Amino acid sequence: MKTRNLSVGTLVASPGMVVRGLVDVSAAGLTVPLPVFLVNGATDGPTLVVTAGIHGGEYPCVEAAARLGRTLDAAAIRGQVVIVPSANPVAFRSRSIYVTPPDGKNLNREFPGSAGGTFTSAWANWLFENVIRQADAYIDMHGGDMIEALVPFTAWNRTGRPEVDDVTRRMAESYGIVHVVERDLEGLFGMTHAAAARAGIPALLTEAGGQGVWDEGSVEILQTGVLRVMARLGMTDPFADAVDPVIVHPGWTWLRSEHDGLFYPKVSVGDMVQAGRDLGRVADVWGDTLQSLVAPVAGLVLFEVTSLAMNDGDPLLAIAH
Ligand SMILES: [Zn+2]
Repeated sequence: MKTRNLSVGTLVASPGMVVRGLVDVSAAGLTVPLPVFLVNGATDGPTLVVTAGIHGGEYPCVEAAARLGRTLDAAAIRGQVVIVPSANPVAFRSRSIYVTPPDGKNLNREFPGSAGGTFTSAWANWLFENVIRQADAYIDMHGGDMIEALVPFTAWNRTGRPEVDDVTRRMAESYGIVHVVERDLEGLFGMTHAAAARAGIPALLTEAGGQGVWDEGSVEILQTGVLRVMARLGMTDPFADAVDPVIVHPGWTWLRSEHDGLFYPKVSVGDMVQAGRDLGRVADVWGDTLQSLVAPVAGLVLFEVTSLAMNDGDPLLAIAH
């Protein structure tokens, strides 16, 4: 690999340079400025792409990515880093939960997207073709949305191709987050990291923080994790301190609401539950139970919605096996 110019849209960084700026992205007739950092190392190495804010209400990842962009030193990096700290600016500005306002779609169900699709699908396609596809390794940072709490975790999907999966496993093991959800790619569509994996790019989803706040602890977890992965990929000198061994979960089970109502959980994120455990209920405003929630499997409560208001079909919580 030779040193080369690094570019996204109209933004270009020559070797040894850090360039930041807004790239105008047009999707379904709407043009939105997208903030991008290009960190082009002075010497050869892989290209790492980092995105955050695919969901507009997940704040620690946005702050972590922005800090990475502001602090990475091109002279100290072997390879290139592309950072998109707020990958869904329309959802970010509108403080939208789950979906992007112009068409009400979840961006992380649309990848690799379609150039001729509705706004969210066309936006996904632009990001995929212009940002994600140039990656030799990809990290998409998330967290709990404004109404979600979670235990920090990473997730990735096995492609069955050792040259891809071995790299992704090393990324997950070096990030510094203990809980890893590792599943087969087959049948999974629409998510950034699944679409990237399908294109042969080692891709990691990382999650920390939630409930509409950006706490330093979660920012630190996400930011340092990227630095650890860069070191593991040989892009920087080795990281001084070791990370705890990961706990690999072969899957997770999501519970969803079957009614509009009020959510009264009896467990919190981080709780270990046995199959059959009473997890709480969805009730109407009169207090009558509409749906009793029983753990279908044993495992760790990885994620839980903290909103009292609940809609038919909404996720309630997830149990990692
Ligand atoms: Zn998310």
